[in-house]
Amino acid sequence: MILAPAKLGLLGGGQLGRYFVMAAHELGYEVTVLDPDPDSVAGRIADEHLIASYEDEKALMHLAGSCQVVTTEFENVPATSLARLEAHLPVRPGARILEICQDRLLEKSFFAMQGLPHAPFSVVRSEADIMGADPGLFPGILKVSRFGYDGKGQAVVQDRQAARDAFLDFGGALCVLERKLQLDSEVSVILARDPSGNCAAFPLVENRHKGGILDFSLAPAALPAELAEEIRRVAFGIAERLGYVGVLAIEFFIVGGKLCLNELAPRPHNSGHYSLDACITSQFEQQVRAICGLPLGSTELLSNAAMFNLLGDIWFRNEAVCEPNWSKLLAADGLKLHLYGKKKASPGRKMGHLTLLGRDCGEIARAGQRFRDSLL
Ligand code: ADP
Ligand code: MG
Repeated sequence: MILAPAKLGLLGGGQLGRYFVMAAHELGYEVTVLDPDPDSVAGRIADEHLIASYEDEKALMHLAGSCQVVTTEFENVPATSLARLEAHLPVRPGARILEICQDRLLEKSFFAMQGLPHAPFSVVRSEADIMGADPGLFPGILKVSRFGYDGKGQAVVQDRQAARDAFLDFGGALCVLERKLQLDSEVSVILARDPSGNCAAFPLVENRHKGGILDFSLAPAALPAELAEEIRRVAFGIAERLGYVGVLAIEFFIVGGKLCLNELAPRPHNSGHYSLDACITSQFEQQVRAICGLPLGSTELLSNAAMFNLLGDIWFRNEAVCEPNWSKLLAADGLKLHLYGKKKASPGRKMGHLTLLGRDCGEIARAGQRFRDSLL
């Protein structure tokens, strides 16, 4: 066990990292954040903020020399940097896992190899691959294999011509072409696995997206018990197979009543934010516990919850940027406002979220929508 007041290293300094720092502090740990952005919202509250690139040898060796364990808060940290750190201290999750999760092609190939249900896809390395692709993949979604997030680096393509245009738009980067599925719903599971292989999952969440970005989440997801059990079983199996240590989020599609894997996120997840206010242990405290080898915390849901993202768009009024008027939200019962302290709002940027607690998911979902609309 890595006990407080040990120092924990974190690669990446966005809002997920900020909550990790807060959770680590609550348990008496110190945190060093590596993030090149001087305004990093996690870096600003960490015990130490290394403002350097993720490949900076001096910064990496400083982490290796001063921390007991290293983790990440976003998957696009170069896997080579994690491998470099792994020679010196535990990196949880490890470099090989990050490598898989940051590359859609590797990730989907992993699903295929494990015999896990996923959307039909093919790899696109060239225009010729599009011309030769299975007609059953259209209408499809062309996704860049690396560095896509929040729907970026994706295009819905009706036919080969559109896929070719999108491929050229993406600069000819390696892509996967995936069939566009008719989704009944989308759900995610956030689980943690400790170094001894113990696993705990948070209640499943139902997610609604808008423009490829998570719009809101409802916990617990309304799913038949059998399907929910199957999702948990598949999720634990994936964590086991990867030898995962840390918090892992898995996105699923439900198609025709059956589960279909979408993608893995090797870290806490936007759709798990409800756990901050609705569970005994938050996903961030669980991340601290898992990587330090502490007993995993209770994932019990204390109340149904609805979580709504607050994107930077809300900050724009007649082209001018101004802070939204939070007074209605701050005065509401059963509503918790979270702001990440980002200095600059931009459209689509995740600036904060709100969580509503209540008995009836439908009711809190409608109330959340109303509260958020009132900001416009
Ligand atoms: P990101 O890394 O941006 O989250 P995803 O692959 O999860 O990328 O896609 C974002 C969203 O786009 C999904 O949550 C889903 O709403 C939609 N989507 C992605 N792939 C498919 C698909 N094959 N069929 C239907 N909808 C999809
Ligand atoms: Mg996704």
